[in-house]
Amino acid sequence: MEFALPATMTQPEQNDWSKGTKFRRFCFPLIGCSLEDEMRSICFALALSTAAVPASAAPPSAGSPTNPLWSQQKIRNYLPDMTWPEVADLLTRTDMVIIPVAALEQHALHGPIGTDFYNAVEQAKLVAQRTDVLVAPILLPGNSPYHMDFPGTITLKAETIQQVYFEAVQSLLHHGFRRFLLLNGHGGNAATTRFIVDRINQETAGIAVELGDAAAPYMKRTPDMKGPGGFDRHAGTPETSNSLYYTPNLVQLDKARAAKITLPTHMADMLPEVVAGNDTAETVFLAEGLKARETGKRTSTREMSDTGTWGEVDPKLSTLKRGRAQAEAAIAADVAFIEAWKKLRPLSPKQ
Ligand SMILES: [Zn+2]
Repeated sequence: MEFALPATMTQPEQNDWSKGTKFRRFCFPLIGCSLEDEMRSICFALALSTAAVPASAAPPSAGSPTNPLWSQQKIRNYLPDMTWPEVADLLTRTDMVIIPVAALEQHALHGPIGTDFYNAVEQAKLVAQRTDVLVAPILLPGNSPYHMDFPGTITLKAETIQQVYFEAVQSLLHHGFRRFLLLNGHGGNAATTRFIVDRINQETAGIAVELGDAAAPYMKRTPDMKGPGGFDRHAGTPETSNSLYYTPNLVQLDKARAAKITLPTHMADMLPEVVAGNDTAETVFLAEGLKARETGKRTSTREMSDTGTWGEVDPKLSTLKRGRAQAEAAIAADVAFIEAWKKLRPLSPKQ
């Protein structure tokens, strides 16, 4: 619960939360309502009306004999849902683990703080339904220092992140898993993820790859994946379209609007080249863009965008059709890579 709630909140909801209203309304039933039945029912009703359930969702029944907020089904090969005998059984069929590398950071006016966590975990779960591998989520936050001016973002140092994932991998190695597929859900984690992969390969008996990199040659682009074009990055139409597929009820598209973008002058000058697909311009643009306020580059999200979207395209142009096409292409590519790896190096009890 302490994780699920903030992960479903948009940045303005976090503002409201930090002012106290939602915190009081949500926490009261958890910590203080056992005193009187009447108060319990009042704060229970308030909690249901504010606990990050979109207005369109049907409210859970207050008379439910079990947790009225629990709506998840047990997912095959998803570690948090499994018993230890199920993990032992899976180990007789595979030594592979997908580990999503996530983030908890603002996603503008319309996307939940947990976007990168949810999208990576949901992608991994869907992959694990098509090819037998374990999915082991480890952390919700990642490295997001440049989003810190928006409430709700949680950032961890790269050193912390890599150490936590590395120790988690050591646990999984202890149980007999040997092959690790790190699935990065957030651009700011890219270098950290590759470092974790290298540490596993250099320092343990495990073998690791970054799944996005490994699956790239299998990625088939389809016409449905095409977007409106233009400057369209963080919390823009590619990512929001993905969310419309993976976590539809958490996207509040009616709250989305085009961001007012204020780039440092020299970056604004190179933007047309970036949008035109000039690789060098993009490399230089991204090296400088989206960096913590403390660097003095004036490229933290808040310094460049009023909504938190980093792009000029209106996120309202996001579509489920495009999100589904992007997700299906990514999942198919992941599965193709995993199947190819299983063929190249079949599971052997002697390894
Ligand atoms: Zn994101």
